[in-house]
Amino acid sequence: MTFLKGIAASNGIAIAKAYRLVEPDFSFEKKTIEDPAVEVGRFRKAMETSKSELEAIRDRAKVDLGADKAAIFEAHLLVLSDPELNSPIEDKITTEKVNAESALKETADMFVVMFEQMDNEYMKERAADIRDVTKRVLAHLLGVHMVNPSMIAEEAIIVAEDLTPSDTAQLNRQYVKGFTTNIGGRTSHSAIMARSMEIPAVVGTKSATEEINNGDFIVVDGFSGEVHINPTPELVEKYRSIQKEYENQKAEWAKLVNEKTISADGHYVELAANIGTPKDLKGVKENGGEAVGLYRTEFLYMDRDQFPTENEQFDAYKAVLEGMDGKSVVVRTLDIGGDKKLPYLTLPEELNPFLGFRAIRLCLEEQDMFRTQLRALLRASTYGNLKIMFPMIATLDEFRAAKAILEEEKQKLISEGQKVSDKIELGIMVEIPSTAILADQFAKEVDFFSIGTNDLIQYTMAADRMNQSVSYLYQPYSPSILRLVKMVIDAAHAEGKWTGMCGEMAGDETAIPLLLGLGLDEFSMSATSILKARAQIKNLKKADMEKLATEVLQMQTTEQVIEAVKAATK
Ligand code: PEP
Ligand code: MG
Repeated sequence: MTFLKGIAASNGIAIAKAYRLVEPDFSFEKKTIEDPAVEVGRFRKAMETSKSELEAIRDRAKVDLGADKAAIFEAHLLVLSDPELNSPIEDKITTEKVNAESALKETADMFVVMFEQMDNEYMKERAADIRDVTKRVLAHLLGVHMVNPSMIAEEAIIVAEDLTPSDTAQLNRQYVKGFTTNIGGRTSHSAIMARSMEIPAVVGTKSATEEINNGDFIVVDGFSGEVHINPTPELVEKYRSIQKEYENQKAEWAKLVNEKTISADGHYVELAANIGTPKDLKGVKENGGEAVGLYRTEFLYMDRDQFPTENEQFDAYKAVLEGMDGKSVVVRTLDIGGDKKLPYLTLPEELNPFLGFRAIRLCLEEQDMFRTQLRALLRASTYGNLKIMFPMIATLDEFRAAKAILEEEKQKLISEGQKVSDKIELGIMVEIPSTAILADQFAKEVDFFSIGTNDLIQYTMAADRMNQSVSYLYQPYSPSILRLVKMVIDAAHAEGKWTGMCGEMAGDETAIPLLLGLGLDEFSMSATSILKARAQIKNLKKADMEKLATEVLQMQTTEQVIEAVKAATK
């Protein structure tokens, strides 16, 4: 038995066999061959096997993910049976007497380069299809195993170097019981998604992919960050009882689903949910979310091969607004970059992507993309209570520029005869220290703030949120962070505006008493954290927490703050 320690990223216990999501080794040598006919035979066999495999994946995807997601595999099948690709490969094997691997790779690479250079989105996508299909055929030629999480058909725990947000979105909740990765931190997006999908997860173990083999029996402890490999029956028994206890605890919290969140001394706060897609609304309702405090729209742009159209976006925003039935929905405009990438949007490689060309910076440059989103939002605004929020605002000029574009699109729509709500509140994420420090000035121009602590902490501490080696600097209770949070809340209140928080800190058990004391108006968190937070706040007195907050702001270290919170909430 072996044991790994990582970062607890999503509560719960998962017990199942490991499924390694690790890319195989695709390296090979170019060789001269004796008998081209045999080599062509090998190539054809690899093509045939790939074809039947893709047909099975397509059929499965149709059932599990819907016809639109299955279409990508249809496109791959078309590439596989295209003589324009196959004939040159067979010709190369025959005339140049080279092995199938190199004939395949060289021919495919030539087409990929050719298509990528075309000034046509459709052809660029074909390049991506060819790359994918080539990999599959190459895997069969080399006899290595391609990983495919959508084909998992028994209970499993995913083991990976890292999971991208779109990998995570594709995990089938029915079979995937948990995951563990080598890299990542508590606020990396795979961790955030694991929490919203209620999948126990441990990230940042450094060596999970080295230590765990396919089929090993493992336990992922999402409370403590431990991963046990082939544990003893006694340990498994212990974990099964923790699992059961947690289920009972959740059943207790569930009784609060229709209640308001009112502290023991009568102060009301709003508990909202963070969502990534309209599908997440189910979880918001089941967990008693009173609003959507953060709709991360970038997920609408991921896991596909081209930009969503204005109408596709309109449909998604309308569905969320209608689904929330007049309750507040804060939609964040596109926040791409950092650990969130789009396969069809080529951005320059950057040394520091989290400090780079992302979010509002990108939207102010790529205005077509931004304007399309704003139009879709404005058109959807009449279907509910929409609030729009810009991410990663660092200066007032950025806010003003983004607001001006929004105004222009609004006027255009109105002059086209479209209806647009005149009650849309406009706010910003406060996730860059410059903005927190200048919150008094911003508060004069925005309708609300939402503090994005995932980024605010990474930028204040200068510690990459994806890097487990510096994860100790993710310190939401540090007096430095708490002072910034206080500045933002006070600045908003001085102008009669409200402040929410949509970073992971808002749902954190130790932070909640402090945030209540600091006067936070809205707490937005993974839907699955809401009921627990409600139960906690009902037992706290705001007046006591105000006193606590005043004290901790004068403390020196995170540890002192944690101790003070423990003492005040016992
Ligand atoms: C944040 O930075 O706190 C936030 C909520 O945004 P994201 O996690 O999507 O960067
Ligand atoms: Mg952020």
